[in-house]
Order: sequence, then structure tokens, then C-alpha cells
Amino acid sequence: MLRGLGVSPGIAIGPAHVVEAGAVQVPEYVLMPDAVEAEVERFSAATEKARRQLRKLQGKASLLPGAAAEDVAILLEAHLAMLSGSRLIRGVERRIRAERQNAEAAVQAEINAIAQSFAGMDDAYLSARIADVREVGRRLVRNLMESPFQAFSMVPAGSVILAEELTPADTALMDPRRIAGFATLLGGAEGHTAIMARSLGLPAVLGAPGLLQGIQNGDMVVVDGLSGRVHLNPQTSVLDEYRRRSASWRAEREQLKTLSRLPAITRDGTEVTLHANLELPRELDTALELGAAGIGLLRTEFQFMNRDDLPDEDEQYETLRGIVERMDGRPVTARTLDVGGEKLATALRQHFGDPANPALGLRAIRLGLKEPRLLETQLAAMLRAAAHGPLRILVPMVVTMAEMRAVRTMLHAVARRLHRRGVKLPPVLPRLGAMIEIPGAALSADSLSTVSDFFAIGTNDLIQYTLAIDRGDEQVAHMYDPLHPAVLRLVQFTVEAALRSRIPVSVCGEMAGDPRYTPLLLGLGVRELSMAPANLPLVKRRTRCLDLIEATRRADSIMIQSDSGRIATLLDDFNDAAG
Ligand code: PEP
Ligand code: MG
Repeated sequence: MLRGLGVSPGIAIGPAHVVEAGAVQVPEYVLMPDAVEAEVERFSAATEKARRQLRKLQGKASLLPGAAAEDVAILLEAHLAMLSGSRLIRGVERRIRAERQNAEAAVQAEINAIAQSFAGMDDAYLSARIADVREVGRRLVRNLMESPFQAFSMVPAGSVILAEELTPADTALMDPRRIAGFATLLGGAEGHTAIMARSLGLPAVLGAPGLLQGIQNGDMVVVDGLSGRVHLNPQTSVLDEYRRRSASWRAEREQLKTLSRLPAITRDGTEVTLHANLELPRELDTALELGAAGIGLLRTEFQFMNRDDLPDEDEQYETLRGIVERMDGRPVTARTLDVGGEKLATALRQHFGDPANPALGLRAIRLGLKEPRLLETQLAAMLRAAAHGPLRILVPMVVTMAEMRAVRTMLHAVARRLHRRGVKLPPVLPRLGAMIEIPGAALSADSLSTVSDFFAIGTNDLIQYTLAIDRGDEQVAHMYDPLHPAVLRLVQFTVEAALRSRIPVSVCGEMAGDPRYTPLLLGLGVRELSMAPANLPLVKRRTRCLDLIEATRRADSIMIQSDSGRIATLLDDFNDAAG
């Protein structure tokens, strides 16, 4: 039994499918003479990335029990050694320079050559090294090819996916009707892979040390996404117990569906708006089935994932229109592209380079304003979709008033251009809102409220940037604390600024979908929460048994605390008293 972070509830039981790093078709081509040095550079970058990955895995290995920690550390050390000044590296560079082979093909050829020279030796130690050389080669090829698209459609139905690391884009390719769930060695609880898992309703555990040791395809696995436990080849009694728990978990979920047609109203009569966050259009059915009053956050990144080109205006428009029409008069809040940091789109990669601090770099609206064509295309598609139903536009990672003004100017210009083209537009332009997810934005919420039509508080990034905790890093996941007084003060400050300026304010980070925080957020004055569809019934149940006056009092007493442990106790006691 292994322990990791339970990031998406539910229990997956099934045969393991181990994702092999870099099991992809390697392209082969001859380089033009003037492209050779750039190719050597590209190979060096892939090598450096591999070193970083291996060092990260080393950090993880130290958490393994007993002798396993040392065994894995030795192995990783050997892999690292193969990446500096080794025969492999020299050989690949020579092939690129002398034979003008592309880097992927050069890695493949060099690995085969090394394996052949080892194969001639009758030495058990060296033959074990062949497997290591191949593994390092696969890692290099995968880095060179930059996130190959995983072919999960070929995986046997009912499989549990096990991998070193999965990107949000990899996760988006998992069909919950075919894949039972997944577990990874790396990854934090609030990163987008975790959010994608929750959206898809896939039970998932991330950051489980020792996950890939001695496991074979087809071995039986249990992933418990609530407790964070992963059982490899469990005994029959353990399997039976999990089958029972899985059945009762599903029965409880079914039972909760009965709430979907009831209003989200507190015991003392205040109405709360519960919206759904959408990662992928295929979640729409669940959102509607579970009673979403609208879409509070449409993450448009899905339109850019798992492809090498960019979607044009018509394609984006058709997708958005489909969603707006399906929502049938309920509001849709479409966010402009939020790539960069941990979320990358292959076709936009050339804009990013390899920044030292991607989370602080060129991402989200910063990219949109630097590459106006990208943002204009999105705004045009959103404007056209707004002619088919209520749509608001949300701007991610805003930190200055100038950014909001620039987007608004662009929105007006795009609308004029569309009008000249004779395109059908909504009678009034969509409202333009700011995501408040950077501490600096929260602290200037009063000024930002003068240039924004609404606010959406993104607690995921707000926590990450306030506490300087990478939301996707399992090593610091225990310090990611939504109840840190600094975070709560920023939320409170933002809500108060919005209320003073009479603009709507919602919370759309993961905090909004956890019923534990419902009394606190409502007590702070929030009346609109947006969450993964599966959480809608849980938050509605909590809202319906909540006394808002009491919750406001409790929020007041929480806000004068300086210790998050004390805050957690005050909040949990309040929740427990409500039963
Ligand atoms: C957030 O940061 O809280 C948020 C909702 O946006 P994302 O998770 O997409 O960064
Ligand atoms: Mg965010």
C-alpha cells in the first residue's frame, strides 16, 4: 500500500496500465546545414530538462521506505551520470553535427549502438545497464518531442493508468467511460491535472512515492482518490472491501442528485448562485444534470490542447456557441486563454521559451496582450457566441488597471470590426470581468473594480502566489493552506471592494467546491460560487442547511484570528454543529 495525495474522490479498481515514458514514434529527417547548431541546442535543452526531472524524482525517492530509497537513488544517480559528458551525449551530438540527423533520430540510433556493444558482453551488470540506457533515451526523446499525445484510446477498458507524471492535456484525453482512474508519482493537489481529474470524475492519487516500482501492466490496482491510498496487487479481502466502499460511494452520489432541482437557498432565505466550472465541453451534461445555474468559469484552454495548430475564429465560435446554446439562457462566463505556467499549449510553445519561473512569466492575459492576434481572435469568437445567449468575458491573471482597459479597448475594436463585416452581435456588449488571483490584484481590488464589470476570485492561484507554494508540487502540498489568514484577508478585501462598487463577485477556485468552506465564503459576503460539476450537490446541501446570520458571525470571529489551525477549528466546529 502506498500513500499519495487523494486529489479526486472515488475508487478505481482495475488492471494497471503503466504509461511508458516516451513510447512514441520517432521522427527522422536530415537537417539543413545551417540548422545543425540549433538542433544541438535543442538537444542540450532536452538533456537539461531530463536532469531537472531526474533531480525531482531523486527528491521523491528519499521518501521511500527502507532500502528502496537507496536502490532508487542509485538508479537515478546512474541515469543522471548518463546525461553529462557520457558516450550517449557525445554520440548524439556527433550524429547531429556529422550526419545531420535530427535529435530524436540521433538519440534512437545512439541508444541502439550502445545496446549492441553491450549485448556482446556476457555480463549481468552491463546487460542491466542496457535497460537504463534505453530508459534515459526514452526520456530524452519524450522531452525532445514535447509532450507526445498519449493514446489512452488504445488502453484496455477499465484500466487504471499509472505514470510518472501526467499533464492536464494528457488527462483530458482520458475517457471516464473507459478509464477507471489514475495515479502518478509526481504532481500536487491543486495543479490542473488534479482539477482535470475532478472535472472528469476520475478517481486519482498524485505524488505517490514508489508507485512504479515492480509493477507490470495488468497487475491489479486500487486507487482511493479520497484517502490518497494506492494498493498494488492487493489481497482478495482488501479488494472486496474496496468494492463495497466503491458501491456505497456511488450510491451516495446518486442520492445527492435528488438535490439538483431544489433551490440553493440558506435556511434563513438567502439565495446563492451555484455555477459550474467547465474544463471540457463534455462536462456540460453533468453540470446540467446536477443543476448548475450557469457556467461560472469556462476554461477555454481545452480548445488549444493536444494539437499542433491554433483554432481559428470560426472553430472557437462554433464551440462556444454550442455551449451557450446548450445552457439555454443560463449565463456562461468564458475566460480568455490562460496558458503558461503549468498549462502549455503545443502550438504556442514558441512564445514561452523555457522560463526559470513559468508561474511568474508570460502567461494568461500577459500573453494575450503581447500577441494581440491571439486575443482578438478569442474575443471575436466570444462576441459572436454572445449573440446566442448570455455570455460574460473573464480575464485571467489581471494585476493592473491598464490590462483591463487594454482588453476593453480591444473588445470594442473587435466589435466594430465584426459589425463592419455584417456579423450578428449581441445588442449590448458582454460584461468584462477580472479574475482576482494575484495578491497584488486583490490588494488593488478597489481600483480594479472601477474598470471591471465583475470579479471572479481564483483561490487556486491566489493561494499559490500569496503563500509562495507551487500548486502542482507535491513536496510543498502540505503547506498549501486555503485557511491561512493572509489568503482569507485578500478574499475579504476583494469581496468588500466589489460590494462597495456594486459589481458581482464570485469565487471560482477549488475552495468554492468544498462544502467545508461554504459557511466561510458566504459569511464573507460571497453569493456566487463556481465549482467542478460533481461538487454542486455537496455545496448545495451545505447551503440549504446553513444559517447565514450564524455563518456571518462565525466568519467575523474567524477573521480576527491569526493562526490557521485555530481558524480550521472554528470552521470545523461550526460545520460539525450543523451535522
Ligand atoms: C484559480 O486560479 O483559482 C482558477 C480558478 O483558475 P485556474 O485554476 O484555471 O488557474
Ligand atoms: Mg488561475
